[in-house]
Amino acid sequence: MTVNKDFFEPEREFNYDFQSAGRSEATWQASSELPEALVPTHCCFCGVQCGMHLRVKDGQVLGVEPRDYPHNQGKLCPKGVVAYQQVNHPERLTTPLIRRGGKGGKLEPASWEEAYETIARRWREIQAQHGKDAVAVYSGSSMTNEKCYLMGKFARVALGTRHIDYNGRLCMSSAAYGYAKAFGLDRAPLPMTDIPETKCMLVVGSNVAECFPILMNWIWQARDRGARLIVVDPRETPIARTADLWLPLKPGTDIALLNAMLRQIIHDGLVDEAYVRERTNGWEETKRIVEAFTPEEAERLTGVPAERILAAARLYGQADPSLVMHARGIEHSTHGVNNVLACINLALARGQMGKRGGGCMTLTGQGNGQGGREVGQKANQLPGYRHITLPEDREYVAKVWGIPASELPWEGAAATEMVRLMAEGTIKSCLVACSNLMVSLPEVAVVERALAQLDPLVVVDFFLSETAERADIVLPGSVWCEDEGTTTNLEGRVVKINRAADPPGEAKRDWEILCDLAARLGKPEGFRFRSIREIWDELRLASKGGVSDYYGITWEKIDRQGGVFWPCPSEDHPGTPRLFTERFAHPDGRAKFFAIPYAPAAEEPGGDYPFRLTTGRVVYHYLSGTQTRRLGFLNSQAPEPWVEIHPRAAEPLGIQSEDMVRVRTPRGVMELKALVTPTIRPDTLFIPFHYGHAHAVNQLTNPAVEPSVKIPEYKACAAAVERIDQPPRVREVGPTRNQTPASAPEMFPYASGEEAAPEGKTF
Ligand code: SF4
Repeated sequence: MTVNKDFFEPEREFNYDFQSAGRSEATWQASSELPEALVPTHCCFCGVQCGMHLRVKDGQVLGVEPRDYPHNQGKLCPKGVVAYQQVNHPERLTTPLIRRGGKGGKLEPASWEEAYETIARRWREIQAQHGKDAVAVYSGSSMTNEKCYLMGKFARVALGTRHIDYNGRLCMSSAAYGYAKAFGLDRAPLPMTDIPETKCMLVVGSNVAECFPILMNWIWQARDRGARLIVVDPRETPIARTADLWLPLKPGTDIALLNAMLRQIIHDGLVDEAYVRERTNGWEETKRIVEAFTPEEAERLTGVPAERILAAARLYGQADPSLVMHARGIEHSTHGVNNVLACINLALARGQMGKRGGGCMTLTGQGNGQGGREVGQKANQLPGYRHITLPEDREYVAKVWGIPASELPWEGAAATEMVRLMAEGTIKSCLVACSNLMVSLPEVAVVERALAQLDPLVVVDFFLSETAERADIVLPGSVWCEDEGTTTNLEGRVVKINRAADPPGEAKRDWEILCDLAARLGKPEGFRFRSIREIWDELRLASKGGVSDYYGITWEKIDRQGGVFWPCPSEDHPGTPRLFTERFAHPDGRAKFFAIPYAPAAEEPGGDYPFRLTTGRVVYHYLSGTQTRRLGFLNSQAPEPWVEIHPRAAEPLGIQSEDMVRVRTPRGVMELKALVTPTIRPDTLFIPFHYGHAHAVNQLTNPAVEPSVKIPEYKACAAAVERIDQPPRVREVGPTRNQTPASAPEMFPYASGEEAAPEGKTF
């Protein structure tokens, strides 16, 4: 245990009681002589973090049972139901692998001793020759808070490198920064259980029903009580099909639509003037800038008829309480932060932030996407949402870690920048955990070249992901239910994951691997943890007094209360389900409006690339698909990607459903099946992103990034599509910014009501 004792209260005996199973942890561990047990835990996949019971006998996970947890009430989606099948999966990695014979050699089994020694020796050599920052850490947010915390500490204390970042950079970073800018704090402001109290939901860029299926339960409850639903999305997603109003905008034009809605709310006298006056700053400039966004101008920019924009503004603006929900559809953008701020402007103007059932909330995607961005594995961040450049934050965390603040590295490269540093040879080795760069980053060809430069590329994973396939050393880690710890779900509710099995073969728990590596690097102090509970207690302390204060959250309290919402500054504090009821987290207690100008996507369609390509998720897969593509039922439903194309666009190109087509962008070419469907704008193509190798859509997406948080523009780039039996046209000229769309059909898809929504996908 490495905690500075000046800060820490005496350790207590851990005597956790599995309430639902009715037995103690110590009892169920000796499971070979026991009857079947139900281990209460949570799903490993999306940010809802549904409660579930795992059925365990003789150390084997046999199945899943409902768990009546407050936010999922016994329900699970198709992913949650089969998540446990990862435990005994035949493709699990059970021994370390080392590539023998150089980069062209094969990954072959090795001992832990050889793997650890090889890694430690190479890292020592590299750092002696090229400096500490020549070794980087690329982490993930599907791990528990404890592991994410330890990744940050490992990078900064054991390796002494400033280059640590994580895959949330590709996911939640624009929402996180937007909320921090507007409110001084980044967290959804209300629990899911408040959603039924809203009178109107404005869902912007979120395919809720496929990405967060159990969250839909709360939306249906609101609908049953009369709430109206507006969906803004270029595709008529399952939730859009049930909406009162669907606004199918051109990908990348969200700000024009949101600003136009705000303008109309102002013109209709629906602004909560007292709230704006008493609780916010920056209104006058915001009011001035949105005045240019007339419904007609917004129609020109977004492709959504002016009357629909007017109707949406009035439906949303007249409801009280009203709730804006947004996700990657607007956040995966070179304007991601501004898109989020434009949503927040609406909620502030209507005086909704801090109201029960009202406000604006980002729907965080990854299982621990919220916690993973708070506990110190981000390039610019220390635990507790502390900032790595602030002297008082550095002093505090250094004291907890028992090192001088001067030894703490400074801010490192964002994940998207890290790849460039690898490609140019500045970063010579990288430890990757819980991330699949070969699928999730744009410009896959560049990523592949960058990873090939590393020596060694070290990957901790439990399956051989597309990234692990390229590693020099693979260390077999654990799946979620082979360890315990906490995650923080999309509401900011900290929940407890419990252990149901041990890792198979020689595989280890990820935190044990990090502690072992730290010892091999000659830095055992600070990594002598005997249990994940000790890491949790240190994390609590490291977060104490920070923005995301976990200090008062104990595992017992999580169990007693059905999760604990941060901030929770002391053990007698119940946690904070609702934020901003009295004041915002900025020093003056007020929220900030931001005047958001419109700018087009970094790459507009035109010339040889007449379509807009957008990407997203499907219900059967999670992130890069490393897990879900290995789970039989899920993969059988969506074994390969497809490109969605509107009938009006497909017909002149001679494309029918299930035809093989070629999709081109200025960066690459991809061959896949077509799905002709009227549920997408005629000028837009859609491809799901869960696939690797030749099926990775990130061969095509635009690597342009948002300037402040460096999140890539996954949701809008210029593209072309053609049937595959036509010879590829060799084009030299790419589209230019602001070019007028060329040959893709521009018509509003449902203006004449000639097309009904389809029954469902054909494959
Ligand atoms: Fe798991 Fe999310 Fe499905 Fe719940 S909604 S079961 S957390 S994937």
